[in-house]
Amino acid sequence: MKQRLLRQIPPIHELQKDEAYITLLKSGDLSDDLLTEWLQEAVAEVRSQILNEIWTEEASIKESIFTAVSARLSKHFDYTLKKVINGTGTVLHTNLGRAILSEQAIKQVIVAATSYSNLEYGLEEGARGSRHALIEDIVKEVTGAEAAMVVNNNAAAVYFVLTAFAKGREVIVSRGELVEIGGSFRVSSIMEESGAHLKEIGTTNKTHYKDYEAAISCETAMLMKVHTSNFKTIGFTSAVESKDLTKLAKEKEVILYEDLGSGALYDLSQHGIGDEPHVSEVLAQGVDLVTFSGDKLLGGPQAGIIAGSKKLIDRLKKHQLARVLRVDKMTLAALEATLKSYIDSNTALKEIPTLKMIVKSKEEIKQESEQFTSMLSKEWNSELIEDFSMVGGGTMPDVQLETWLLLLSHPNKKTQEMIEALRLGETAVVTRVKDDKIAIDFRTISSNDYDELLTRLELVKEV
Ligand SMILES: *Cc1c(COP(=O)(O)O)cnc(C)c1O
Repeated sequence: MKQRLLRQIPPIHELQKDEAYITLLKSGDLSDDLLTEWLQEAVAEVRSQILNEIWTEEASIKESIFTAVSARLSKHFDYTLKKVINGTGTVLHTNLGRAILSEQAIKQVIVAATSYSNLEYGLEEGARGSRHALIEDIVKEVTGAEAAMVVNNNAAAVYFVLTAFAKGREVIVSRGELVEIGGSFRVSSIMEESGAHLKEIGTTNKTHYKDYEAAISCETAMLMKVHTSNFKTIGFTSAVESKDLTKLAKEKEVILYEDLGSGALYDLSQHGIGDEPHVSEVLAQGVDLVTFSGDKLLGGPQAGIIAGSKKLIDRLKKHQLARVLRVDKMTLAALEATLKSYIDSNTALKEIPTLKMIVKSKEEIKQESEQFTSMLSKEWNSELIEDFSMVGGGTMPDVQLETWLLLLSHPNKKTQEMIEALRLGETAVVTRVKDDKIAIDFRTISSNDYDELLTRLELVKEV
C-alpha cells in the first residue's frame, strides 16, 4: 500500500513541466533553482506523510505537492514584522511598537534611507563630521540643555551614564525609586551591570533630604533620581525633588542625574492629563544630566536622549561606548523631525500622532465609533459604552483617559474565535474583550484604517 502510493509520486522533472509549476514560476518572479528546491521539499514532505501513514487517500498526490509549494511561496512574500490595527486604545502599547511616527519623521526616514546623506560629513568644511552634531542643536533648542547626545534607547542611556561616571563608585538612589520597567529593565540590575555600586537610602514610601545628606561619602559619584513612570505610591509618602538636591550635589561635588523615563516636551497637564515632569523644567532646576526615551511621550523613534552639562556630555561623546550605543541614520532622521515639531507646542499637538491620540476627546471617539458602526453590516450587534483608555508604555499609570468602547458581537459566531481570527489575519487587528464581546477603542485607530478594519470584521464573521 505504502509502496503503491510512493510510486505515484511523479519525478521532479515531470513536476517541473506541469502547468501548476509554470504558473507558480511566473507568479512569484522567482528563479527556477529556488522553486525546484521548494518542490523537492514538498515531495519529501508528502513522502514522509505516506511513510508515517498520515496520508489521507482523498487528496491527489500531485495536488498536495503543489499546495505545499504555493504555501511556501506565500510565506516567502509574507513579512514577520507586519502592520497591526491597534483597537486597544492604549496609545504607547509597548508590545505593538510604542509611538507611531509623524508624517515629517516618516519623510525624513525615507530621505535618509534612499539617498546618501551628511551623516558624518561636515558640508561646510567638506570634511569628516560628527553624527552627534546633527541632533545636538535641536535637542538643546527644545529642552534648553547646554549639550546633548542620543543613544539606542533610554535603557542604554541609563547604562551609559552610570558606567561612564560611576563605575566602581557609589550611586545613591531612594528605595522608593528602585523600579522595574516592563519586566526587563530594573534600575538595580542595570546598575550592577554598569559596575556602579547601588547605595539604597530611605524606605519604599519615604525618603528625606537628610537620608541623601547622610549617605554621601568620598565613595559617592552620583545622586540618581528615577522617575517612577509605571507606578504611584499614595498615602503616607514623601520624596525629595531634584530641585532640592542640586545644592547638596554641588557642595559635595557629585553628579545629580535624573532618569525621566518618558520625558515630556509637551505639557499634557494643560489638557488635564497627568503631571509628567517637563524635561526643560527639570534641567532648569539645575540637574546635571537627564535621560529619556524617544518613543514614549515624545512620540518619535526608539532612542535614548541624554541632555545636560556640556562638560559631562563631552566626556560621553569621547567614551568608547558612544560608538557601541550609537543610533543609525534613520533614527536620527526621524528624531530630528519629531523634535522640530516641538519648537512650537501647538505644532507638536498638530503633528505628533502620540499627542493627538492622547488628547483625543471622548466626544470625538464617540463620533468616530458611530461613523464606523454605520458602515458595518446589519447582522452585528453593536453598542457603545463609556470606558477608559491608557497612555501605556509604563507612562502615567494613574491617568485614565475617558473613552467610548464599541462592543461588537455576532449571533452566529463565538467572540473568542473572531478575536483570534482578527489577530491572525491580514491585516492583523488587536482588540480588547469586554463582557464576552469584541471591544474596540477608536482612540488608537486612524480613519485611514476604517476600510481595512471593516473588511476584516466582515470576513471573520463568515469563517
Ligand atoms: C521606559 C523607561 C526606561 C527604559 O527606556 P527604553 O527607552 O524603553 O529603553 C528607563 N527608565 C524609566 C524610568 C523608564 O520609564
